[in-house]
Amino acid sequence: MKLENGETPRPLDADARRTVAPVICYPVDSLAPPDLSAYRAARDGWQKVDEVIVPPRDARSFTVPAGHFFRIVSVEGPQVGDLNLWSLNDINERFFSGKTRALHGTHLSTGDRLWSCLPYLRPMATITQDTLDWYGFDEYGGSVHDVIGTRCDPYTHRLLSGHDYHYCCHSNLTRALAHRLNRPLAAVEPAVHDVLNVFMCTGFTRDTGQYFMKASPVRPGDFLEFFAEIDLLGALSACPGGDCSSEHSSDAAACYPLLVEVYKPKAAPIGWVSPARNGYDGSHGES
Ligand SMILES: [Zn+2]
Repeated sequence: MKLENGETPRPLDADARRTVAPVICYPVDSLAPPDLSAYRAARDGWQKVDEVIVPPRDARSFTVPAGHFFRIVSVEGPQVGDLNLWSLNDINERFFSGKTRALHGTHLSTGDRLWSCLPYLRPMATITQDTLDWYGFDEYGGSVHDVIGTRCDPYTHRLLSGHDYHYCCHSNLTRALAHRLNRPLAAVEPAVHDVLNVFMCTGFTRDTGQYFMKASPVRPGDFLEFFAEIDLLGALSACPGGDCSSEHSSDAAACYPLLVEVYKPKAAPIGWVSPARNGYDGSHGES
């Protein structure tokens, strides 16, 4: 948190230093853009092959083969979802929220990709449709589907309130992964990671730079659609914050289920190949 007036006297050239124009850290011009028309054409005649209802204040896992699509759909009422993704056959490869943010920005939408962690660093999924793309950035600097939050968790809740709450997204995702893999909670908990905050409306306050949330603009029927670039294991938590208009980590908010749908296209998108692991050789300067 940075306040307007620091303790240190301003140097004489403070204004000159502050007016230096920014440059984009990671220009993505060198990356081939996703062929959205090919992805969308592949939806013609697709078939729904699975659906999973995520109960409020709980999480469920699901799998999506490479080359299939999946949608996270709002049903019944405004609800935020916390998404984790792993490579189906190796949960060490998981979604890398921080690098995805560095590459695509604070909030994701159509055409952005969800990248996996090091040393894999490849697209796990591509967003192919976002019914909230009209929202853009609001007057507070807020937008939808962020990769700036982490996930609500019982440790931070304990730290700040002194109380225990067991249905934070972190705990929900941990239970869902443990049930899927039939392993103890403690064994899988380290694999739970920073999320894509689906449907959540967030930003940073302009004066203090603090993370804020506000009521999600999502309504039943809205969805976020992904194309699976590799075989995926996913888990989605219906956050105890509901639409995150007031608080999370409690039973106070109105919460609704979320729906995950998996679709199998008739044929792969023209020109699509599942991405390989990152090509860096891992030598880190030593032979
Ligand atoms: Zn949450």
